[in-house]
Amino acid sequence: RESKAGVDLDAISEKTETGGSRILVFVRLRPMAKKEREAGARSCVRVVNRRDIYLTEFATENDYLRLKRVRGRHFAFDASFPDSTSQQEVYTATTANLVEAVLQGRNGSVFCYGATGAGKTYTMLGTVDNPGVMVLAIKDLFAKIRQRSCDGNHVVHLSYLEVYNETVRDLLSPGRPLVLREDKQGIVAAGLTQYRAYSTDEVMSLLQQGNQNRTTEPTRVNETSSRSHAILQVIAEYRVVKEGPNVIHRVGKLSLIDLAGSERALATDQRTVRSLEGANINRSLLALSSCINALVEGKKHIPYRNSKLTQLLKDSLGGSCNTVMIANISPSNLSLGETQNTLHWADRAKEIRTKACPANEEQVPESETDKTKVLIELQKENHE
Ligand code: ADP
Ligand code: MG
Repeated sequence: RESKAGVDLDAISEKTETGGSRILVFVRLRPMAKKEREAGARSCVRVVNRRDIYLTEFATENDYLRLKRVRGRHFAFDASFPDSTSQQEVYTATTANLVEAVLQGRNGSVFCYGATGAGKTYTMLGTVDNPGVMVLAIKDLFAKIRQRSCDGNHVVHLSYLEVYNETVRDLLSPGRPLVLREDKQGIVAAGLTQYRAYSTDEVMSLLQQGNQNRTTEPTRVNETSSRSHAILQVIAEYRVVKEGPNVIHRVGKLSLIDLAGSERALATDQRTVRSLEGANINRSLLALSSCINALVEGKKHIPYRNSKLTQLLKDSLGGSCNTVMIANISPSNLSLGETQNTLHWADRAKEIRTKACPANEEQVPESETDKTKVLIELQKENHE
């Protein structure tokens, strides 16, 4: 089976012996920017067959030796998107299956990883004319709900949060930092806004407004680089009204994550990881690299607790969840070091196995749903 983007969908549904799956890893190459061209940049990345990536040069002799030792300069992923790939194609190949699974009560996450300027926010949020994965996923979710609205009752809630400097903030209602708590569904941010969404139209402006609330920091002159991680959670609840005493209650959660710029933060060997740790670079990204290493090496103890980001991603990385990573890269030889680093981590993430992903579904006595119905009505009233 081939999707429009030329992606092998059988690979996407591949299952491991344990009934789990592995993390699916995609790479998106963005077009050369005007600024890069004006700075005399050459393209140094080649995408072949929508799968393979070749680096046609190396940043320094040292990088060459390091990469030759690590993996070489050829990489293969579940799909690699050339710079002509549309937002819709990226969405269809990476996330559409996860949206379908969420409606069946399964959890999923998609995260964008890469250096600042590589195209993460463009891929996740996009622009008004070219909306990205976050908006297309919600649009698709509502379309799918409309198709099956006759057999039950769907409610969609959105939360949008940020992790910056080990502080969690609500992007839909900025204010005091939120505290993370563990409950039976996993780690949750206490007091986080759950916005009841009724249609796609309101979502783009809501998300853009949320994005304005993200913490950005000037790194170089005339440039702002984001050291914050943004996480959009889409929660779809489904209630099937059946004959008999019980009704089916199903909840699926989709997390869409725009990570902070990975430059300098993720070192490819443990010694550098340790030396960076004291430098307060980005604890969450360092912790993410330690977790990926521990997961790939099959360690018993995975150090999720080392950062806020890894606590929030615990379920996505090692839990029962469909997980997709999109690595964003620039074609420019001036960003080659960063591109090599990104591809190294993307390559490693391919080896992470996730556990089987059961549906979050339960049978609830009718009387309990009456209570929920009242709650839903009240929330609707609040919204209006
Ligand atoms: P990041 O979030 O990784 O720092 P951005 O998503 O902000 O990077 O992208 C940097 C710039 O490149 C933005 O101006 C964005 O519009 C542009 N850009 C990124 N990816 C694409 C793409 N696939 N097609 C067209 N423009 C892109
Ligand atoms: Mg960004």
